[in-house]
Parts: sequence; C-alpha cells; structure tokens
Amino acid sequence: GRSDWLTRALGRAGVLPRVEAEAAIRAGRVEVDGRVELEPFAPVRPGGVVRVDGRECSLAASTRVLMFHKPAGPVVHGSDPEGVGTVFERLRAVLPESLRGFEWYAVGRLDRDTTGLLFFTNDERFVRHGTAPETHLPKRYVARVSGRPGAAALQRLREGVELEDGLTRPAEARLLEPDVVELTLTEGRHHQVKRMLAAVGHPVLALHREAVGTVVLGVAESTWRALRDEEVSEGL
Ligand code: URA
Repeated sequence: GRSDWLTRALGRAGVLPRVEAEAAIRAGRVEVDGRVELEPFAPVRPGGVVRVDGRECSLAASTRVLMFHKPAGPVVHGSDPEGVGTVFERLRAVLPESLRGFEWYAVGRLDRDTTGLLFFTNDERFVRHGTAPETHLPKRYVARVSGRPGAAALQRLREGVELEDGLTRPAEARLLEPDVVELTLTEGRHHQVKRMLAAVGHPVLALHREAVGTVVLGVAESTWRALRDEEVSEGL
C-alpha cells in the first residue's frame, strides 16, 4: 500500500485541517503507532494508528477508489453544455449520504456515448497515477464496429496504427463476434479506440470499457462499489 504524510493524512481524513494538523504535530499532540511524532512530513502507513490528544483517529477514510458503471449519455466533464447530465451527478445520485460529502474526481475519461468501467477517487494523487502516460495500465475495450474486421485489420491494431499524433503502442486485439472487437491498450489518447478502428476501416458503433489493470467491471449499469485496498495496490 501507499503511505501518506502525517499532515496530509489528517487533513484528508477530516480529522484536522492541514494547517492545524501541522501545528498539533509540532506541539507534540500527535502519536503514530504509540510514539509522539513531531515531524509533519513523517510517513504514515495505511493501517497506522494515529492519536490526537490521546484520542484515536480513523484514517481509513483517506483514499477511496470507486468503480462506477457508466451508462451512455452523461459526460465526464465539469460542465454540461448540452444538458445531458454529467457522470458526477449520476454517481452522487446513487452514493449513500456518508460518501456524498467527498469531492470525487474521475480517473481519466470516457466519451459521452461510451459505457463501462470508470473510476472515481477523492485522492488527486490517484488521478495522476491512473492517467499518467508512463503508467501503461492495460485498458480493455469491447467495440461493436461497422463491417467485418479481417485478419489484416486485427494485425494492424496489434502492431500499431499510424494516427495523426503518432504510431500507437502494441495492443491486443481479437474478435468476439464477427463485428465485435476486444482491444486492450496500454495507453490512453483522446478517442483512441475510435480513431484506431476508423483508421483500419471499421468505425466504432458502440464502445464499452470492461477492465483496467486487473480490475474487471462487475456492477450493474449506473451502480458502483468501493475497491478494496489490495485491488488498488495490486491491480492498479
Ligand atoms: N477510446 C475512445 O475512443 N473513447 C473512449 O471513450 C475511450 C477510449
């Protein structure tokens, strides 16, 4: 698991605002795993026991990652010029009261008409990890396309397709049905799946994301579940 700085951990968990947390630590009011900690930047392991003024604080609330099954329609943007709704509204509508107070960030984007696996987190560091080009997390898509892709088209998808922003990285591609392609990418450029399939002559009619890393979508449309710590630390 990932550790956190003491000041940030207290702030993120809603125990003390960061400025007050730092002052409390320097004043010797904070214990970590049974010892007074005077260093605001001291690491706290995920299961660490923290006491402020002798009272144990739960840091369990710190990093949360949610899996959400995005339906077709809502945008993954802050604004919604066309009035079709945003995924943030859709998520909030199904979250319990206890989770609605967090500020949720989407990890990466899906197009408005794309369905499937989208992560939300309250931790900006996780957004950066999940979207960093160098992470190369495999992302598995299922696309219904026009026409019937043949062996040559599939081979081009695997080896790399020349797009206007350069050659794509090697990918996995196979047919699930004559007009349904499963494509696993280790990069995430804007509209990449649609552009790759269009480039090999089979424009996308419907697109769905099935898995990211080792995490497979497993909830019904428009519903969510929280990921367990080990799903995040080992799978993403
Ligand atoms: N590639 C696309 O073209 N669209 C998505 O929503 C995701 C990947």
